[in-house]
Amino acid sequence: YMTNENEEDYISVQRLKMGNVIGEGEFGSVYQGTYVKKNGDEIDVAIKTLRNEQIETNREAFLSEASVMKKLNHHCVVKLFGLSSLGRSILMVQELVSLGSMLHYIILHKDLINPNYEFKIWAAQIACGMNYLEEQRFIHRDLAARNILLASQHQAKISDFGLSRALGNDHEYYRAMQGGKWPLKWYAPESYNYGTFSHKSDVWSFGVTIWEMYSFGEVPYGELKGSDAIKIIEEGDRLKQPEACPDQIYELMRRCWRYDAEERPTFKELLHSFSLDSDYMNIR
Ligand code: ADP
Repeated sequence: YMTNENEEDYISVQRLKMGNVIGEGEFGSVYQGTYVKKNGDEIDVAIKTLRNEQIETNREAFLSEASVMKKLNHHCVVKLFGLSSLGRSILMVQELVSLGSMLHYIILHKDLINPNYEFKIWAAQIACGMNYLEEQRFIHRDLAARNILLASQHQAKISDFGLSRALGNDHEYYRAMQGGKWPLKWYAPESYNYGTFSHKSDVWSFGVTIWEMYSFGEVPYGELKGSDAIKIIEEGDRLKQPEACPDQIYELMRRCWRYDAEERPTFKELLHSFSLDSDYMNIR
C-alpha cells in the first residue's frame, strides 16, 4: 500500500507536527497535531497510530477503516484527510473533533446539558450522518456513544469505522464471522445470532446509542455480561425508559429494537423524527 506515496491521500510525515496524546484507541494512541498542507495552510488534526507490534495482526482492519473513511464527506461524519507513516507505524490523519467522545462529555458535563435540546440535536445529527452512510452503502457495525465525537456542544460526528465494511452491490447483507471484540450489548439479534450486519442492525445500535445518551452515559444492561443481555432480548424484554427520556423518544427506541429487522424505522425516518426543527442540522 505504501507504494502509492504519490497519491494525494498520502501525507508525508514531514507535513505533520505531533502534539499531546488525546486518547487511547483499540489500535494505538491518538495524538493531537498540526497538518501543514502543500499550500502552507495549517490545520488542527487528530493523528491515530497503529502500534508496531499490532501492524501484522491489525493492518488489514486499519487499512480498510482508512479506505472507507477517505471516501466519506459529511459534516456529521469524522473526516479522514489521509494516511501517513512513521517508521513501521501507520498514521491516520483525521479532522480534530475537539471535545472528544460524547459518552465522556455527557458524564463530565451533565449539568450543562438540556436533554430536550442537546440530546435532540445530537440524535438528529447522528441520524443524519447514518442516513448519509446508508446512502453511501456503508454499514458502520460499531455505532455506540463511545464512537460519537463532539466538535462543539452542538455538533456531533460519527467516528470509528473499525468494523465497517462497504456493502457489496449484489449483497443485501454482508456476512462476517471473525474474531475480535464483540460489542454484544449494541448488536441486533440477527448480528449476534447469524453474524449479519445491515443498515437495519445499525438502526438497532442507534437505539442503544440514544438510550446511553438519555441515561447520561449509563452502561446498557448494567453489570450484565453480553451473553446475559442477549437472553433478555430473546425473552422480549428491552432496555428500560431512562428518566430523562420523553415517551415519544422511548417509543422510537423501541421501534429500533423490533426483533424483525424489517419493522425497524429507517435512518431517514429517524432523522425526520428528531429534526422537526430543521435548523438543528445546520449547526456546526
Ligand atoms: P478505538 O479504535 O478504540 O475506537 P478511538 O478512535 O475511539 O479508538 O479513539 C480513542 C479516543 O481518542 C476517543 O475516545 C477520543 O477521545 C480520541 N479521539 C479519537 N479520534 C479523535 C478525533 N478525530 N478528534 C479528537 N479526539 C479523537
